[in-house]
Amino acid sequence: MKYIDIHSHVYFPDYDADREEAISRARDADVGVITVGTDLESSTKAIALAEKHENMWAVVGLHPVDANESNIGAIFDYDAFKKLALHPKVVAIGECGLDYFHAPFDAGRQREIFIQHIKLANEVKKPLMLHVRNAKKTGIAGATGNAYEEAVAILREHAKVPFDFHFFAGTAVDLKNIIDAGGSVSFTGVITFVRDYDELVKTVPLDRIMSETDAPFVSPTPHRGKRNEPAYVIEVAKKIAKIRQKEGEDPSVILSALVKNAKKFFSV
Ligand SMILES: [Zn+2]
Repeated sequence: MKYIDIHSHVYFPDYDADREEAISRARDADVGVITVGTDLESSTKAIALAEKHENMWAVVGLHPVDANESNIGAIFDYDAFKKLALHPKVVAIGECGLDYFHAPFDAGRQREIFIQHIKLANEVKKPLMLHVRNAKKTGIAGATGNAYEEAVAILREHAKVPFDFHFFAGTAVDLKNIIDAGGSVSFTGVITFVRDYDELVKTVPLDRIMSETDAPFVSPTPHRGKRNEPAYVIEVAKKIAKIRQKEGEDPSVILSALVKNAKKFFSV
């Protein structure tokens, strides 16, 4: 495994026409693929794919947006998720956390369901895949807090397993809080076409950074405007190496660290 995409949703209908081909393209490029459920049904689909493919693993959980009362699947069925979580190809619990970006949301309910995920992760001794997003700057009632700060406080209190903030989009202060609490962050193709995250990419300790696509969303350059897929994580990894290279790090060391970190984090 030369590269690893630690966050994708390959079970989405976006891949109905060519799912096996997309997975083959990743395998042929020596890319490991972690596919992440967002509710009970998609978590089951993620496991089914992981069972079929040697280079794939699954993550099971209820996305914080799906945890809002207004959404179907708002109940976190602990026992049902525990059954999935014990599957040998399930390598983490999530994506879970706090999303104050997509309104309307129910912060209290999200926190409660987030803690349930942490308890499950502790129980099955698997790491946490986190989805955390701050409120829009315009301000939504009930979302005055910093979701990253709240999530880190909750993790410090409850988590006994490693945790990664997927699609990291916080500030330098948020990053420092995460690193101080023992966590890691992962970056998507966004870093290939905006420069806002360069400083963060450079400052993350080399053993706390991972690469992901969040496919089918946010295709990296040069695939902008097309559907994303796990093989494109190569562009993300190379960009991380390029940004950090300016700080004097050897690109091959950075590329191998991205895989090494993920192997250790997910025990794969
Ligand atoms: Zn996701």
